[in-house]
Amino acid sequence: MKVLVAVKRVVDFNVKIRVRADGSGIDTSGVKMSMNPFDEIAVEEAVRLKEAGQASEVIVVSIGSRRVKETIRTALAMGADRGIHVETDAELEPLAVAKILKSVVLQDTPDLVLLGKQAIDDDANQTGQMLAALLGWGQATFASHLKIYDGIAEVVREIDGGLETLRLNLPCVITTDLRLNEPRYATLPNIMKAKQKLITPVPLDQLSVDIAPRLTVLSVTEPAARAPGKIVASVAELVEKLKTEAKVI
Ligand code: AMP
Repeated sequence: MKVLVAVKRVVDFNVKIRVRADGSGIDTSGVKMSMNPFDEIAVEEAVRLKEAGQASEVIVVSIGSRRVKETIRTALAMGADRGIHVETDAELEPLAVAKILKSVVLQDTPDLVLLGKQAIDDDANQTGQMLAALLGWGQATFASHLKIYDGIAEVVREIDGGLETLRLNLPCVITTDLRLNEPRYATLPNIMKAKQKLITPVPLDQLSVDIAPRLTVLSVTEPAARAPGKIVASVAELVEKLKTEAKVI
């Protein structure tokens, strides 16, 4: 079973996001970037399938500028076998990413495609679903447990207020939720080994995919600043303020 994992390079989850002064987006200059956390979980799951003897090869694909190669290397250091770098400096919407991934899937014919449930930069939560639809494959999103047997994927999904268990035929698309696993840290020997692993560059225009944007971002704004808290001297004062200032009781 070949597993393809899509990984995106995003602003590190620890970084406080700065909105550009003109409100056109977020400022990424000089900001620490990392692999999208849900994609780390997807890589970990694929590597575990390989270690369990269920996956024969783990291929990692990332779409973006030359810097996304670092993200691919991180996945290779975690245990993926080889990488594909679709080269572009264009800003891509989820539909364009899904179309590009479809063309990689048709080329490399994986049995299972793993993606993060969402990228923490645009929070779109669309690419996996669109990819499955474009391929005509089954999909299971928000996976918190995955079992593969007899050409079947059994997936436990996190849904509002509970869990849902699905069975779907391979090939299929699965997107990862936070509780699927805890990704490993790459060890130094594995980081060194990853330098020898193959990353195939694929210029985007070689794929003849229509990446024209369908959406226009009108504005990006910071959340409203919270008013500072107040320390009250007694319960009576608290009740008084809740009545007269906050007007909630
Ligand atoms: P999104 O739909 O943008 O929230 O992204 C969902 C998932 O799609 C991510 O967790 C990645 O697995 C994949 N993805 C999105 N953008 C890219 C990209 N530029 N390169 C590779 N994978 C991507």
